[in-house]
Amino acid sequence: MSRVNLAGLLPSELEDLAVELGASRYRGRQLAAWVYRKGVFDLEAMTDLPKDFRERLTERAVIEVPEPERVTVSQDGSRKLVFLLADGRRVSAVLMPDDDRMTLCVSTQVGCGFECRFCLTGVMGFERNLTPAEIVGQVLAANRLLAPAQRVTHVVFMGMGEPLANYGALVTSLRILTDARLGVGYSPRRITVSTVGLVPGIEKLGREGLRVNLAISLHAATDEVRTRLMPVNRAFGLAALMAALRRYPLAPRQRIFFEYVLLDGVNDSPEDARQLARLLRGLRAKVNLIPFNDWDGAEFRRPPLPRILAFQSVLLDAGITTTVRWSKGEDIGAACGQLREPVPA
Ligand code: SAH
Repeated sequence: MSRVNLAGLLPSELEDLAVELGASRYRGRQLAAWVYRKGVFDLEAMTDLPKDFRERLTERAVIEVPEPERVTVSQDGSRKLVFLLADGRRVSAVLMPDDDRMTLCVSTQVGCGFECRFCLTGVMGFERNLTPAEIVGQVLAANRLLAPAQRVTHVVFMGMGEPLANYGALVTSLRILTDARLGVGYSPRRITVSTVGLVPGIEKLGREGLRVNLAISLHAATDEVRTRLMPVNRAFGLAALMAALRRYPLAPRQRIFFEYVLLDGVNDSPEDARQLARLLRGLRAKVNLIPFNDWDGAEFRRPPLPRILAFQSVLLDAGITTTVRWSKGEDIGAACGQLREPVPA
């Protein structure tokens, strides 16, 4: 019989398991505290659990989280963590310090199947989904790495993979990360899920009541350009996407984030910016412009700085909050769109 992985179980499932093993629900809550609060993965070290309960647990369960195999430090202070998974595959996460924030960018899949033309992860193709333990484990491992001085303050689901294409594991991880009583305990407002725009997934996520932030990789304001850049636009065009977003439940003062990669001569003209402003009219939106990050073999270029700033001005003049996101970790292959494992020699 294969043993269940405790990391990746909901706190309520840990309580159920404790009862199944003849202990009280309280023992399950203690387990949750050890794994999710203290980041302890060794049953032997859980000294406040009765010995016989620990023995029964050892027979039935393991605690397995991905181990960081390699940590690369960027000149800008960000760090890329490469995780070796149990089946020998690898994913990466990126730690990005910024003032009093410490943001962790996590992966949800090995590779990605959506083939956005400007994204290096897309070149890998899709290999497999990550489990909840492998997703939450990236956060737990990063916190272990930072302890005791620091802690991850924000989590963005913007690493390798498409979160909404791994829906079940995504939602389980979000529940574990945001469970204030027994889980890792992040406020949902500090968590952001980014998607290529899978409309049914967006609608489903809206009904979960999780209240995490939603980011949309938009990258174009017309179907013609978007389809050229993101084949997924053939399945879910802008009209359907924007309609779903207009219905998406937002908390007071919560906004939807839009990522827009700026590609020289492709989607970066003032007219593109005006069309984007029109598309977002009436929506509580914040735009993050991401100047294209280069990789070997890419067919795009980053626009010159004046063009980036001119694009931003059009949006600001239209009353849309717009920032330019200068990606971190470009020198270590950790910037937006540069994640690929293994890195070819
Ligand atoms: N699959 C999800 C999560 C990944 S988020 C999604 O697409 O939203 C990673 C972000 O980086 C996306 O907005 C993606 O479009 C963007 N990106 C990809 N390649 C890039 C590149 N070369 N330069 C800048 N941004 C890029």
